[in-house]
Amino acid sequence: MSASERLTSHRPHDGSRLWDGAAAGPAEVAAAVAAARAAQPAWGAAPLADRLAIVRAFKAAVEAEAEPFARLIAEETGKPLWEARTEVASVAAKVEISIAAHAERTGTREGAFAADPHGARQAVRHRPHGVLAVLGPYNFPAHLPNGHIVPALIAGNALVFKPSELTPAVGERMAQLWASAGLPEGLLAVVQGGAETGRALAAAETDGLLFTGSATTGAALARQFAETPHRILALEMGGNNPLVAWDVAEADIEAAARVIVQSAFLSAGQRCTCARRLIVEAGPAGDRLVDAVVALADRLIVGAPFDQPPPFMGPVIDNRAADRLLAAAGALPGRVIRPLKRLRPGLPFLSPAILDVTGQNAPDEELFGPLLQVRRVPDFAAALAAANATRFGLSAALVGGDATLYDRFWKGSRVGVVNWNRPTNGAASSAPFGGVGASGNHRPSAFYAADYCAFPVASIEADRPALTIAQGLR
Ligand code: NAD
Repeated sequence: MSASERLTSHRPHDGSRLWDGAAAGPAEVAAAVAAARAAQPAWGAAPLADRLAIVRAFKAAVEAEAEPFARLIAEETGKPLWEARTEVASVAAKVEISIAAHAERTGTREGAFAADPHGARQAVRHRPHGVLAVLGPYNFPAHLPNGHIVPALIAGNALVFKPSELTPAVGERMAQLWASAGLPEGLLAVVQGGAETGRALAAAETDGLLFTGSATTGAALARQFAETPHRILALEMGGNNPLVAWDVAEADIEAAARVIVQSAFLSAGQRCTCARRLIVEAGPAGDRLVDAVVALADRLIVGAPFDQPPPFMGPVIDNRAADRLLAAAGALPGRVIRPLKRLRPGLPFLSPAILDVTGQNAPDEELFGPLLQVRRVPDFAAALAAANATRFGLSAALVGGDATLYDRFWKGSRVGVVNWNRPTNGAASSAPFGGVGASGNHRPSAFYAADYCAFPVASIEADRPALTIAQGLR
């Protein structure tokens, strides 16, 4: 997208235009990076307390604007208002959690240095990288970039943030909230645009890039960053997440179905942690569970963000995404249990869909929408093997079983989030969050975001030099 190109965003639930503005070209990106570069040294050198005052003022600004902010998120993403409200609450809650994480993960340690006979001290302190780029996705247009921005600012970095081209209005609102909190100019520049603007930002003279998005884009960024290994690259990507339901007690079938449906269909399946694959016992136990899941999926309300009664899920982000999902679902092998259908002509409302792929070779791709693939297997070893039959490694959950089975599942799952009797998409900012395999590059976010926002500096220090050479002198 060149500087003269326009960028627009639309409300997924009715197709109306929400935001219109210019896309940033390479010159605008370079200017934003230069402004960040100029603003960063004073910010990084300021006492931590000064930075924390601004970050806490941002929290207050978000809380003061919570309802209009939630409405904007709901309008631009199509997610139900109740869910957008939880996103805003997460944005505000991120502040105190990140302050605690900064102290715990990258705090200063100073003390005696026992290895030095002359009484030197040892210190570990952290320094900000400098200028960091943030690339955001559309599914949580506030909470996920915020999960990079807050810890990066606390650590003393300046940022250039490119929101998803599908959610520019939310990105712009975030910048306004920071400005109203008194964040000095230049420290958080927003550049709007699509992949081309993202590529320009990745190529610009930053000290690193914090990314949340698809595995394909993340891999492209890793290739681009291969030439600059001195720059930090944190990649939070997608998954093809398994949920194994095993030994579910008769009395727990309805609760298990709720955990499964929430895992698969929350946010219309547009969460990186959504369960894409349900693995159950072949035979009557698995059948009963799948029947309960289908019955519950039949009851889900799909609707517009502000509908009453409130919907469980909204549309997917746009018609392109809906068309892609419909084509991918149509190409999957197996038996349709509940079809993926467009529910309103010309709009991206999709039905929660369930497909039985038992014995089939389904592609190991993330299908980012309300589509759950069921696989029936003979025993738990086969269930574990099926769960791990993916190049991704973001989240996994076991529903049912006992502590021994869960222990086996936990140890056998190569993912960054493992849950038991709770949805795959249950995650907390108070814990690290990230995946392995094609889901991440071992730079987990959330509580561990502090780690990639600063680098440690180790020092051995004394007020005076000492006679440090003890042997080998003539
Ligand atoms: P995306 O990869 O298409 O886009 C993410 C961002 O990267 C956008 O700002 C986009 O403009 C930019 N971009 C796209 N191509 C680029 C390129 N070649 N160079 C530089 N920038 C580029 O992702 P999306 O569709 O917006 O978001 C959905 C994806 O995000 C899903 O795969 C989902 O699993 C993933 N996700 C991951 C997490 C996580 O924390 N692991 C959280 C939410 C979403």
